[in-house]
Amino acid sequence: MSNQSSRRSFLKTAVGAVASFCLPRVLLARGSPTSSWFLDTLTGEFWPVGDPVSWSLANAQKPILACARERLVTLDAADPQRVIRLVVRRCKLNLIESSPGRVVVHHWGQQGRGDLRPFFKQHDLAQKKVEIVLIERKREITTIQPGEDFLFGERLHPFWPWKAFWKKWQRRHQEERDDWTEAPGTLSGYAWDGVEPNLIPWSALKSAWRRTTPLLCLNCDQPTIMTNFGFPWHGMFNRYARFVYVCRQCRRSFEDDSVKDVPEWLVMNLDAEVWPKFEMVWDRKVKWTPPTKDDSPRLTS
Ligand SMILES: [Zn+2]
Repeated sequence: MSNQSSRRSFLKTAVGAVASFCLPRVLLARGSPTSSWFLDTLTGEFWPVGDPVSWSLANAQKPILACARERLVTLDAADPQRVIRLVVRRCKLNLIESSPGRVVVHHWGQQGRGDLRPFFKQHDLAQKKVEIVLIERKREITTIQPGEDFLFGERLHPFWPWKAFWKKWQRRHQEERDDWTEAPGTLSGYAWDGVEPNLIPWSALKSAWRRTTPLLCLNCDQPTIMTNFGFPWHGMFNRYARFVYVCRQCRRSFEDDSVKDVPEWLVMNLDAEVWPKFEMVWDRKVKWTPPTKDDSPRLTS
């Protein structure tokens, strides 16, 4: 069994047991509403611990603490900082101490910080009003960030034209006079008649909105809105599939890199009357020929 899978199987059995004996202690500690958790930076799993020092000393024989065992058995609760530094360093764990409005995270080195986003999402901590205190225990450097920095996706620019997209999305089943104007900020690698090259006309976005299932936001679990599709150039020699979605609730954007064949995606997900007329070859417009069934065996199924 690999080290990683043994860690995982240990956690599966340990989390339930740990939670059951720690929970009453957390509930009883009304004067001190801090709850502590360890996060395994290798697997992303996290579990509650009533008192992290006692838990570490009591579980020194468990596989998850194997890398620290030799030293742990020589320590006791009289030196709590040494115990925490030891397990955070050797076992690649993060200690998370959560209290109302504030979370303290202990990690070792810049590379030793795990992905905190799933934990913060589950505990509703990725908010502006929550203060996240990151303590890098190798050099004992503390930085403070708002919880919203730990949302999934990219933060939208403050002047991002949200209202224009939202208005058009609500009217995606209607035809409007300005549907053949370009949606701001789009970048497709294609061109349509009468529309600035590389930008996407609203009519094509509306078609995609009607025909595709929106991705769910990783933060809010709500449907997002597609704001870009295409195959733009990146530098002189590379093109890349660019599919972007934004969430109206948390105002984050997400890139979807699952589309491998953009021309096929276009003919499958856009009405034929809004297919691009050209593709961009650097800054030149070249007539675009949609793939036919012969080109793509997947279109025949
Ligand atoms: Zn969201």
